[in-house]
Amino acid sequence: MSEKVKQLKARLAQAANLNLAAGVLGWDQQVNMPPGGAEARGEQVTTLSTIAHEIITAEETGTLLEAAETEVTGLDYNDDEASLVRVARRNYDKQTKIPTELVAEMSRVTTQAFGAWRQAREENNYPLFAPYLQKIVDLNIRIAEILGYAEHPYDALLDRFEPGITTAQVTHLFDDLKTGLVPLIRDIAERGKPVDDSFFHTDYNEGKQWDVTLALLRDIGYDFNRGRQDRAPHPFTTNFSCNDVRVTTRIQKNHPLSAIFSSVHEGGHALYEQGIPERFDRTPLSGGATLGLHESQSRLWENMLGRSRAFWQYLLPIMRAFFPENLTGVDLEQAYRAVNKVKPSLIRVEADEVTYNLHIFVRFELEQSLVKGDLKVTDVPAAWSAKYEEYLGITPPSDTEGCLQDIHWSYGTIGYFPTYTLGNIIAAQLYNKMKADLPDLEVGFARGEFLPLLTWMREHIHKHGSKFTAPELLQRELGEEIRAQPLLDYMHAKYTKVYEL
Ligand code: ZN
Repeated sequence: MSEKVKQLKARLAQAANLNLAAGVLGWDQQVNMPPGGAEARGEQVTTLSTIAHEIITAEETGTLLEAAETEVTGLDYNDDEASLVRVARRNYDKQTKIPTELVAEMSRVTTQAFGAWRQAREENNYPLFAPYLQKIVDLNIRIAEILGYAEHPYDALLDRFEPGITTAQVTHLFDDLKTGLVPLIRDIAERGKPVDDSFFHTDYNEGKQWDVTLALLRDIGYDFNRGRQDRAPHPFTTNFSCNDVRVTTRIQKNHPLSAIFSSVHEGGHALYEQGIPERFDRTPLSGGATLGLHESQSRLWENMLGRSRAFWQYLLPIMRAFFPENLTGVDLEQAYRAVNKVKPSLIRVEADEVTYNLHIFVRFELEQSLVKGDLKVTDVPAAWSAKYEEYLGITPPSDTEGCLQDIHWSYGTIGYFPTYTLGNIIAAQLYNKMKADLPDLEVGFARGEFLPLLTWMREHIHKHGSKFTAPELLQRELGEEIRAQPLLDYMHAKYTKVYEL
């Protein structure tokens, strides 16, 4: 390896180790820590991430980066060293452009905003949160100006989470989806054959639910020698190396599907991380490439696999063995329809596969208007209600069930909601290609054979780590741009049958 690249790699590995250690503390905070530990834990994490940030943004890193860039000139775009230097440069520029004073200000504002959001949500008191949202919007506008953009300030914010994709492209993709999904949802509501899912809302033994999720994770290929599952109120996946990738799930007595789909969803994220080559550990190429690509993995396992008829051919007998008293007389068709019930609802995280994307459109459109100055912070509740009425045909009875439901704005980050729907779009594209490559894929699902799916993913997506942006990776592996049609086709084909439209 070239000398300067080697030095750069060693330097960035130190910063990575500090951030990964902070990650262990974060995992512990959500899984094990008693509430009293929060303040001390916050300081520990801040210290570690501050030192990591200092290493990454130091002049010495910049000098090494320049020297390394000279060394890798002429190497292939996908060469490990060339990619490492290219991605390191992107990260370096983003991190050094934003002044420390602005980072500190954001940290102060979000600490207060989080408390205000929690109280505002509890009391259904939007005006309490509004001044903080105003500050967060203003700070994000400043960040956009500093980072720079071609057309829309939102471009700069989106680029932090999904590099290589512009607001205009996302708008185009979402318009395509909207045109197809809004009438489909209306048709389901007006003339769909009703779905009964009451048998999934009886008392399910919590210990047995836990056992089912473990069996499921094992069957989809999650490696417990390099991972573990725990319980957490808001399921997430975290990793400290490709050899230590942890998932969490949520168990609810009257809602076993919550545990099942949380584990499969997080399992999808985890399989991605476990599949990334060990040589990328502690480098800028470690981990999944972008938020959209990460979500394409979790969503493909959760929806395209986990909500397919073939998957329930495999899972229903297992469920019946664990819960004979809950599932007597429930046949495959009933179970399949129940896990695919579509119902417009107010809360995004509880939404079904079809309506989910509409929740994302609302946030994407409001965020854009906010940073462009077309929408005043005080007018958010009214704009929110109008969009829910337009897209989903329902109006939130309160802001608690409306614009105050999501914690995300109080974190200070604007620009990453679209990556959830981008994930769904990309998942459908990947699934199409995979089915063309492996015609018997779904026949295997019914027998619990998921290895071909995982092997395909390893070969086409996981092995690249963070080398490529989402558009680059799709062009390379599918020969396609990101496009909404495969997701629309999938939705139409599936739900016209489920609802006998
Ligand atoms: Zn996810």
